[in-house]
Amino acid sequence: MQKKDIKNFTLNEFQEEVKDLGVEKYRATQLFDLLYKKGIEDFREMSNLPTSFRDLLQKIFYINKMELVELAISKDKTEKYLFKLEDGNLIESVLIFSDKRVTECISSQIGCKYNCVFCESGKKGFKRNLSVSEILNQVLFIKKKMKSNPRNIVFMGIGEPLDNYDNVVKAISILNSKSAFNIGARKITISTCGIIPAIKRLQECNWQIELSVSLHASENKLRSYLMPVNNKYPLCDLIEVCKKYAEKTDRQVTFEYILIKGVNDSLNYADKLAKLISGFNSKVNLITFNPAPGSLLQAPGIPQVKAFKDKLVTKGIPTTIRRSKGGDISAACGQLKSMHLK
Ligand code: SF4
Repeated sequence: MQKKDIKNFTLNEFQEEVKDLGVEKYRATQLFDLLYKKGIEDFREMSNLPTSFRDLLQKIFYINKMELVELAISKDKTEKYLFKLEDGNLIESVLIFSDKRVTECISSQIGCKYNCVFCESGKKGFKRNLSVSEILNQVLFIKKKMKSNPRNIVFMGIGEPLDNYDNVVKAISILNSKSAFNIGARKITISTCGIIPAIKRLQECNWQIELSVSLHASENKLRSYLMPVNNKYPLCDLIEVCKKYAEKTDRQVTFEYILIKGVNDSLNYADKLAKLISGFNSKVNLITFNPAPGSLLQAPGIPQVKAFKDKLVTKGIPTTIRRSKGGDISAACGQLKSMHLK
């Protein structure tokens, strides 16, 4: 019998598992505490569980692990972790330090199907979804290293999180669970290229998860060029569903806009963007493009970035310029890639 990966179960699911084994329900909570709060990753070391239960666990389940292959540290202290998964595939996670906050940017897939022109993650196509345990292991590794949870978790690493909806939602429920990581929903951000049916599903979860939508253009033709997913889920429909998300969850939706020189950074596009998203609780994060080595696209100068911001602000759109971090170690937005795929 193939053993089951224990970190793929939510607490409710694991309670059902232990019930089926004839073990008291509270043992599931105890095990979650040992796995996620104490970080014990060997059933034999879980000494406050009865030996008979440990033997059962050992027989039926296993604890998925990953290995750190490389750690790169940027001049601005951003850290990029390269992890090897049990099947030999590699993924990256990034730790970003700002003021006293630590944000972990995690991956949700190996590769990506969506092939946005400014992003390295999809350049070698898509290989597979990460399992729940592989998503959680990225956070668990950092938690063990720092001896505390990262303050914020952002699903902005490799992959489109809403394309791996079930595993991402399960992982969030474990990150959020008081019996496991106990990270507040408002500290968790899902960043999407705009998978409309999945945004609709997410809003039905009634969580206060932060939703961040990669827009990068304010008209369909340009957005379809930059982000081919726009051919399937065009701007107007996407904005409409974001509006509903903001209303239903009472959360502000963030629109990410990477400014690329001569492509989407004219003030005319800023005008169009303001018109497109005005009238509901949203804000814009402007990010200056981070060219990967060999990229033909370029970053605009600081005056253009500021002018774009000012235009949005005068139109009443809350706008911030997100400082890009980790560019020197290819850890910045859009630079994580799947070059290590087997
Ligand atoms: S920006 Fe996101 S959706 Fe687009 S290719 Fe990169 S990882 Fe995929």
